[in-house]
Amino acid sequence: MGHQVAVPHDLSGIPDWINGTINNPSSLYEMGPAGATLEGFMINWMLNKLGWFKGKNLCDFRKLNKNGSGILTHGGSIANMTALSSARAAIAPNAWEDGSPEDLVVMGPSTAHYSILRALSIMGMGKKAFVPIPVDKNEVIITSTLEEIYAQVKKEGKRVMALVANACATSTGLFDPLDEMAVFCKKHKLWFHVDGAHGAVALLSNKHRQKVKGIEKADSIIWDAHKMLRVPALCTAVLYKKQEQMWNSFHQKGSYVFHENEVIGMDSMPFTVECTKSALGTKLFWSFAMEGQEAIVKFIENSFQQAQNLYNYLKSQEDFYCPYPPQSNILCFQYKPHIINDQKQLALRYKLINSGEFYITSCLIHGKRYLRTVMMNPLTDINDYKALSNAIAKYALTIKTDEN
Ligand SMILES: *Cc1c(COP(=O)(O)O)cnc(C)c1O
Repeated sequence: MGHQVAVPHDLSGIPDWINGTINNPSSLYEMGPAGATLEGFMINWMLNKLGWFKGKNLCDFRKLNKNGSGILTHGGSIANMTALSSARAAIAPNAWEDGSPEDLVVMGPSTAHYSILRALSIMGMGKKAFVPIPVDKNEVIITSTLEEIYAQVKKEGKRVMALVANACATSTGLFDPLDEMAVFCKKHKLWFHVDGAHGAVALLSNKHRQKVKGIEKADSIIWDAHKMLRVPALCTAVLYKKQEQMWNSFHQKGSYVFHENEVIGMDSMPFTVECTKSALGTKLFWSFAMEGQEAIVKFIENSFQQAQNLYNYLKSQEDFYCPYPPQSNILCFQYKPHIINDQKQLALRYKLINSGEFYITSCLIHGKRYLRTVMMNPLTDINDYKALSNAIAKYALTIKTDEN
């Protein structure tokens, strides 16, 4: 219940074992045909879910007009940097040669994942290039402030390279209103980047799709398979609505040809930070091969439902406070907030994890300390919620005793 780490299928280690045995990295088709092909296939599957795929079937790797595109990377942090590099290539094609222009900024919720800020620093733009948009009491972006801040940014002579959205936010598990943000971006012709590392999976469920309404209007999306698709770490997709945007990212002025024999849709090396990369496509495909798409969707719905169940249970307990109903499988709460201050909520967490009984995390929401759970294990049920709340109550007593 601690971190956003997948509970994979029992046999999901096999592709890592194959990779560790035959060692066929998948960056180029000729280096690792299986991994590269499966990467292309799974990218097509994801694009198709977004309505960004125009091919005949998922094995169609042609560069069709209006097709999206994408690659797999080792993790969401590199993926965010990759997408932001593409956004920069779109607005400042010479940046690849000349370095980042001084006038570029990125707008996004003040609670954007720290990998966004890191990416801006690594790209030479500096953290100062991030323009934080205010968030509400549950740390969801306040879209009504966008116009005013944008006008201010323009007045200062800056150009907006991208607007970033949380889908969902790492700490709270709540989704920014993507549709509204997409409308704003369309109006001002801005690059819209959705950080869907954790929550892009909502797209797969009829029950939860509404939470990512408008996601298909993004220019780029990142999606971690190693969080909610039962894939062991690491495996992340970077997806582009327009394939040209990907070709430009690591090249000056969109010179696409890396070498003449490039295998379209399968050679990912020209489009990623990485050179050698493990057979990520195999891992992702394996998860679907073992489980089937339907079972994976059920797994996602079950995880989301678990957070809802935990919420319902804690709400029925007088001593617990939950600031909001969950939208994903992440839930934050406090124990006796009127007595147990922020410091003690944190102490409580350490008591709990040192006991070995439970492993939960904590986070700040609007400056206040909360306990945080991520319901990743399909086997967690009401008995575990009860045991968790009992353990918290038990260790809260010892905190008091220590102080006395
Ligand atoms: C987990 C997460 C990331 C980082 O992904 P890694 O795969 O851990 O590098 C980025 N953004 C959000 C919203 C996340 O939840």
